[in-house]
Amino acid sequence: MSSRDFVYSKFQEFYNNPLTVVPAPTSFEQREFAYLMFRERFMVRHKRFESIQTFQNVLARNVPSDVYHSCAYYENPDLEMDKKGWIGSDLVFDIDADHIPTSCGKIHDEWTCQKCEFSGKGVTPDECPICGSDKFSAKTWACDFCIESTRVETAKLIDMLTKDFGFADSELHVFFSGHRGYHVHVEDEAVHSLDALSRKEIVDYVTGLGLSVLDKGVKEKRVKGRKRFVDAKKFNLHDYGWNRRLKVGMEKFLSTMTAENLKNFGLKNNNLLKNKDAILSRAIMGGRWDSVSGVSVATWLKLAEQVKSLESANIDTVVTTDIHRLIRMNGTLHGKTGLLKIELPVRQLDTFDPLTQAVAFKKGTAKVLVSDAPEFRLSGAMWGPYKNVKVVLPTAAAVMLILKGRAEVAN
Ligand SMILES: [Zn+2]
Ligand SMILES: [Zn+2]
Repeated sequence: MSSRDFVYSKFQEFYNNPLTVVPAPTSFEQREFAYLMFRERFMVRHKRFESIQTFQNVLARNVPSDVYHSCAYYENPDLEMDKKGWIGSDLVFDIDADHIPTSCGKIHDEWTCQKCEFSGKGVTPDECPICGSDKFSAKTWACDFCIESTRVETAKLIDMLTKDFGFADSELHVFFSGHRGYHVHVEDEAVHSLDALSRKEIVDYVTGLGLSVLDKGVKEKRVKGRKRFVDAKKFNLHDYGWNRRLKVGMEKFLSTMTAENLKNFGLKNNNLLKNKDAILSRAIMGGRWDSVSGVSVATWLKLAEQVKSLESANIDTVVTTDIHRLIRMNGTLHGKTGLLKIELPVRQLDTFDPLTQAVAFKKGTAKVLVSDAPEFRLSGAMWGPYKNVKVVLPTAAAVMLILKGRAEVAN
C-alpha cells in the first residue's frame, strides 16, 4: 500500500464513520462550501447544500483532504463570486505559527523559492530575497512550542475582544485550527455588515498599529539634527483600552526585567530599574509620569513601544479583512496533519491540549520508515527523534509524519 493510499483510507474511514459529527455552521444554507480533492488535488468550490447531512454524505463519498466554508452569508452561495449576493460575514481571526517567529521555527521550518530554489529556515518571507517571487514551498512542523506560542497570542486577542470590544464569551467561537494555530470567529449580528475597511480598523486595534501614546500638545523637535521631545508633562495613559493595556504591560514588563534583558529590548536607561518602585507607584499607579528622575518622555515612549509589541495579538491580518474568505470547517480533518479543527470553550483555552484532544485517529498502529523527524508529542506520549528508521507508531502519528513528508509506509 502506498503512503498516500494509507492516509486516504484513514480519511475515508473517518468521513464514513457513523460516529463522526461535523457540526453545521450557523445559517448553513447561506454559506458557500468548498473542498480539496485528496487524489486529484483540485478545489471544488461555490457549492451550496440543503443540510449538514447532505454535505456529510458528500464528504463520505468524495473524501477530501481539506474542507472549507465561507465566512460570508450569500443569497446564492452556489453562483459565481459577483452573482452571489453578499449579505454579511462573520468576523474571523487566524493565529498561525507561520506568522510568529519562534526560536524552534529556525530549526524545524524550511522554505524554498519555487522560482529560483533559494531556501532558508524559519518564517517564510513575503518575497524571495533573491528573485522577488512570492511562491514558496514550505516544510513546517506542528511542534508543541509553536502551538503554545499561538495560544498565548489567542489569549491576548480574546482578552481584547471581551474587555475592549465588549463581546460576551458566548459570542466568541474558539477553534484549534488542526495544524499549528487557532481561529476565533465572532458570529454576532453586529459584525455581519462590517466592510473590509472597518475590519481593517479592528485589525489595527488588535495589532496596536498607529497607536498614539502622547497626549496632544507634545511636540517632536529637532535639536542639532536629533529628535527631541518637548513638554514632557504630556505623556499620559488613562484607564481604558490600549492605555490600560500599556500600564498593566509596563508593570508586568518591569517586574520581570533584569538590566541585561532590558538591553536586549533596546532599552538602555538604567533608571527604569533603579527607580522601579517610583515608576510603579508614582507613574503607573499615580499618573505622575514626569515625577520619576532620569526617565524622560523619550524613555516612556520607548518603553511603551516595547510593551505594545508584547501586548498586541499577532494575527494573520489578511484573513480578518477578507469578507469572502473560505475558512476551514469545524469538525473536519487538516490535510497537513490529520488532526481535527475543533471548537473549545473560550475559558478552556489554557487547559485545552490540541495534541491530545484534536487527535482524530485513535485506534491502530502502522509501520513506517521515518526519514527525519524531531522529537514530538502526540496522544499523551513522546515519540522520536527518528532518522532513517522503521518504527511502529500509533495511526495518528504515522499519518502526521506521512502528511509532513517525513515518513513512508513500510511494507
Ligand atoms: Zn527566488
Ligand atoms: Zn516549534
